[in-house]
Amino acid sequence: MTDPVLQRCISPGCAAGYSVDEVITSCKACGSLLDVEYDWGRCAVPKSLRSFEEKWSRRFEPLCLSGVWRFRELLPFAPAEKIVTIGEGQTLLQTADGVAKYIGLNSGRCFLQYEGLNPSGSFKDNGMSAAFTHGRMTGAKRAACASTGNTSASLALYCAVSKLMRGIIFIGSGRISYGKLSQALDYGALTVQIAGDFDDAMARVQEVSKSLGIYLVNSINPFRLEGQKTIMYRVLEALRWQVPEWIVVPGGNLGNSSAFGKAFFELKQLGLIDRLPRLAVINAAGANTLHELYQKRGVRWGGGKGSTQPVIQYYGQLDRDGHRASTIASAIEINRPVNLAKCLRALEWCDGVVREATDQEILDAKAQVGAGGLGCEPASAASVAGAKKLVSEGVIGRDERVVCILTGHQLKDPTATVAYHTTDQEKFNEVLGSRGVKRAAFANRAVAVPNELDEIIKAIQLYG
Ligand SMILES: *Cc1c(COP(=O)(O)O)cnc(C)c1O
Ligand SMILES: [Zn+2]
Repeated sequence: MTDPVLQRCISPGCAAGYSVDEVITSCKACGSLLDVEYDWGRCAVPKSLRSFEEKWSRRFEPLCLSGVWRFRELLPFAPAEKIVTIGEGQTLLQTADGVAKYIGLNSGRCFLQYEGLNPSGSFKDNGMSAAFTHGRMTGAKRAACASTGNTSASLALYCAVSKLMRGIIFIGSGRISYGKLSQALDYGALTVQIAGDFDDAMARVQEVSKSLGIYLVNSINPFRLEGQKTIMYRVLEALRWQVPEWIVVPGGNLGNSSAFGKAFFELKQLGLIDRLPRLAVINAAGANTLHELYQKRGVRWGGGKGSTQPVIQYYGQLDRDGHRASTIASAIEINRPVNLAKCLRALEWCDGVVREATDQEILDAKAQVGAGGLGCEPASAASVAGAKKLVSEGVIGRDERVVCILTGHQLKDPTATVAYHTTDQEKFNEVLGSRGVKRAAFANRAVAVPNELDEIIKAIQLYG
C-alpha cells in the first residue's frame, strides 16, 4: 500500500485500490462497492478507547465537540483543515426499562441510542459530515442524493450551513413525510421530484451525478459510512467501553449496518475491543429484501465468494411482478438496498440475524418508545419491534445487553403518530388501516369534552 488511506474494492477477487482523491462510488474494474481502507501502522491510533475521553475537556474546539470527529483517529482520511462539522453526533444512550419490559428483557438491559438528536434530526448527519469533508477535499461544488427524506434534510442542512456546495435532492412521488420535505425546502436545496419511488430516484441520481460530475452523498459513498461508524463508538463510550451483546438496527439501504460492522471489525483488528457484538438488522415486512435473501434464500457474504445468483433472481422477480416496497416506515421503504454486499459482510463479521416487522408491530413499538420519552419516527421503531421478536424466539437472552438504534426523531413524521393515537376512525383507516394496521394497542387518546367548566373538571378527575 502506497498511501496510508485508499478506497478499496470490497470484492476480494478484485481488491483494486484507488486514491482518496478520486470521486467514485463503485470499483472501476468490477463494479463492486468501495471501502475506505487505512494502513493503521501509519496512522496515529490511540492505545485504548479510554483515551478519547480526554477530548471532552477540549469541547470548545469544534473537532472535539463533534460526536463524529472526536473519534477522528478512527476515520483518519481527512486533514483537519478540510473537515466539515456542524456539531453532529451529540446523541444520547438511554437506559429504557419501559421498553425493556415490552420486549421481554430484564431491567437495565435495553438501551436506546437516540440519533434523532442530531442537527437535522436523524443519524444521517454523522455520515453527511464525513461525505461533505471528502467532497471538500475533492473540490466538489454540487452534491446530490436520492432520499426517502432524511438524507435530503441532512444534505440540505450541510449545504445551508457550510455554503460549500449546492444541494440537489431527488425524491420519489408521494411518500416523503412533510417533516423531512419541509427541512429540505426550508434549507434551500434544489428539490427534484421524480415520478417514481425511491428505488427509481436512486437509480436516476447515480446516472445524473455521473454525467454532470455532481458529488453523490448517498450511502453508496464509502466516506459517508466512515462517519456512521462513530455511532458505535458513542454507544461504546456510553457503556464505558464495554461491548454490548446486541446491536439492533433498522435496515433500509443498509448503510448503517454496513458501517457498524466495519467499525467493530476495525476496533477488533486494532486490539481496542476483544470481541464483536452480534448484529440484528430489521426490515419492514413491506420492504424486506434483506430478510428474504438472508433468512429465506440463504444468501451469504461467504468471505466475498457467496453466490449473487439468488440476488439477481430475486430482483428479476420483483421486476416481473412490478413489486414495489410499501410500509409506513418510509425511511426504510427500499427494495434494492445499495449496500447489500457490505451488509452481508457485516452480518458475517458480527454473527448477525435479520428479521422483518409488520407496520402494526412497528407502530406499537414506536408508541412504547414514545411513552418512555424522546420518541422516534416509524422506521426507527423497527429496531425495537425486531428486538422483541428475537427475545420471544429466544435468540436474544433476557439478560443480554441490547442497544436499539433510534435512527430518526419523533417529529419527522407526525402524521403516523397522530393517526395512531386518534379517536377519528376515518383518519385511522386512511393513514394506517390501508396498511393493514388493525388496532392501536397503546393509543393515548385525546378526551373530548364540551366547552363547559364542570364537564372539563369532571373529565380531568375521571382520567387524570
Ligand atoms: C436512512 C434511514 C434508515 C435506513 O438506514 P440505512 O442505513 O439506509 O439502512 C432508517 N431509519 C431512518 C430514520 C433513516 O433516516
Ligand atoms: Zn473491483
